[in-house]
Amino acid sequence: MASTLAVAGLVPLSSVDFPGALSAVVFCQGCAWRCRYCHNTQLQSFARRPTQRWEEVLTFLAGRRGLLDGVVFSGGEPTLQAGLPEALQAVRRLGFRTALHTAGMHPAALRRVLPWLDWVAMDVKAPAARYAGITGHLASASRAAASVRAILASGVAHEFRTTVHASLLPPAALRTLAQELAGLGARRLVVQTFRSIGCRDAELLAEDAGVGYGPTLWAELAAMFDTFALRPA
Ligand code: SF4
Repeated sequence: MASTLAVAGLVPLSSVDFPGALSAVVFCQGCAWRCRYCHNTQLQSFARRPTQRWEEVLTFLAGRRGLLDGVVFSGGEPTLQAGLPEALQAVRRLGFRTALHTAGMHPAALRRVLPWLDWVAMDVKAPAARYAGITGHLASASRAAASVRAILASGVAHEFRTTVHASLLPPAALRTLAQELAGLGARRLVVQTFRSIGCRDAELLAEDAGVGYGPTLWAELAAMFDTFALRPA
């Protein structure tokens, strides 16, 4: 039931969350991982009360037909919401294109919603050996790899993106991540620099997030993919 979608917030207009689309962004409450660099820590708890009802969001969206192109589901982790499949279908019925931001932590749920998606952005956090060190969740590497495979097999337009902080993902680890991702068949990678706003990890905030990265590494990564981009925080 879409009524079980826990809505943590709604951005009524965004031009940066869904390429080529003016979109509204629905933030979902709750995430099972605890990444140290998370800048949406207020969205992690499943106990926090939703800020509005999904039906109210749908009413808002119905009034934006012709003004918006798409709707993005972000989080938190939207694939942990039981109501996501029905919410996507409702948004499609209103005539909007659909997008998802996910960390790929629930590959089975991701597979279920891929048929109703026009675009997916998945955070790829680390090479397999370092994944749990970032997410705090032992099975996160295998879950993320399964989600990467599901996205690639679906044919849905997508981007894989990685947040870099030198303490969590030093240059050699980022290189390994890129090799693993390319080995799975990914053709597009976006590297995002660490964003301090919203991060509550005092150690990370005190450290130099960018040490060791530079043009040589970026050129190496660019050579592994058809499309490579650096995105500032
Ligand atoms: S997966 Fe995303 S929302 Fe969840 S803790 Fe990590 S960065 Fe935050």
